[in-house]
Amino acid sequence: SQLQSSALARVKPSATLAATAKARELKRQGRDVIGLGAGEPDFDTPDNIKAAAIAAIQRGETKYTDVDGLPELKAAVVAKFARENGLTYGTDQIHVAPGGKAVIYNSLVATLSPGDEVIVPAPYWVSYPDMVLLAGGEPRVVIGHEADGFKLKPEALEAAITPRTKWLILNSPSNPTGAAYSADELKALAGVLARHPHVWVMTDDMYEHLIYGDFEYTTIAQVAPELYDRTLTVNGVSKAYAMTGWRIGYAGGPKPLIDLMRKVAGQTTSNPSSISQWAAVEALNGPQDFIAERGRAFERRRDLVVSMLNQATGVRCPNPEGAFYVYPSVEGLIGKTTPEGTVIDGDETFATALLEAEGVAVVHGAAFGLSPYFRISYATSNEVLEEACSRIQRFAASLK
Ligand code: PLP
Repeated sequence: SQLQSSALARVKPSATLAATAKARELKRQGRDVIGLGAGEPDFDTPDNIKAAAIAAIQRGETKYTDVDGLPELKAAVVAKFARENGLTYGTDQIHVAPGGKAVIYNSLVATLSPGDEVIVPAPYWVSYPDMVLLAGGEPRVVIGHEADGFKLKPEALEAAITPRTKWLILNSPSNPTGAAYSADELKALAGVLARHPHVWVMTDDMYEHLIYGDFEYTTIAQVAPELYDRTLTVNGVSKAYAMTGWRIGYAGGPKPLIDLMRKVAGQTTSNPSSISQWAAVEALNGPQDFIAERGRAFERRRDLVVSMLNQATGVRCPNPEGAFYVYPSVEGLIGKTTPEGTVIDGDETFATALLEAEGVAVVHGAAFGLSPYFRISYATSNEVLEEACSRIQRFAASLK
């Protein structure tokens, strides 16, 4: 008999983790590799947050906590939603789990029955469709085209909804495109959802604080309060506070849903690390100024990368509103041949040939559900980004 379960057999391994592992392997072999695959800030966790964790250990805060979060952390999350998003939640409407990833997975496991559908706009974060499959549901991918800023159009949403639709997943700013929805765009989607009261909305706001220029960040429950009773607002400390390794994510939503998510966590992970939770309390309640400072550094990097990629032959790079990703098109390179004789027949061949020729690791667009594109994470230094983009320019120019 087969070792792998039928549920897991439907799931692909994470393409972004695979790209990172491949780059690491080439580095070990002594190759000069620049990895632009990883989705985490290069900045360190701020010292006040580290100190709060150390103090928690010294106070003996080393025991189990409530399954879905310490009361102090839930209170900090409630205050955050009120302060930054104009959203009112009680502490009994908050779920804390080991990362945003676990929050999303708990919500899907809690709610999906076989045959239930989840609308996943593409380009999507790699984990959404596979988490839906693992939870027993059916992802329904709907493309957001480049001409529409890679965003889901209301008509496309309307056409994708069926009686089996359980959730729509929104992610703004987006991994992998950096695209963010304006308040008007969210209201237009809410207008469609108003006609379909059986559809819930999960909004993944992980990149909320990474927003550039004069774009104004909003989240759907804030601009469409009529959806409050069927919206799960997901966020976390990983990206905003450079805390990817601490594993704390959280969400606010209707109490009946939060109760089901607690039931899942209670029989699987139990609470996230008590020490990390105390660090997250300090992150949310402590000084916030460094977020804007780091945001300005990210914005300069975005400008650098967009400008240098648009100077590469056959590459077209849209200028995204947020996050730390760009999603350039390689349409202009399809059909060309490398000096070694490889024909670029799609974005996966492009990414592999780029890695072999110039040692630059990117993730091909097919992994995110829209080709022919690739994703660059620009959460690394200006010097490294300049060198990487020069190599991409040289590689693009070498294709005939
Ligand atoms: N959501 C999006 C869109 C992400 O890009 C990520 C991380 O890459 C997550 C959720 C998961 O965050 P966490 O590290 O808190 O699990």
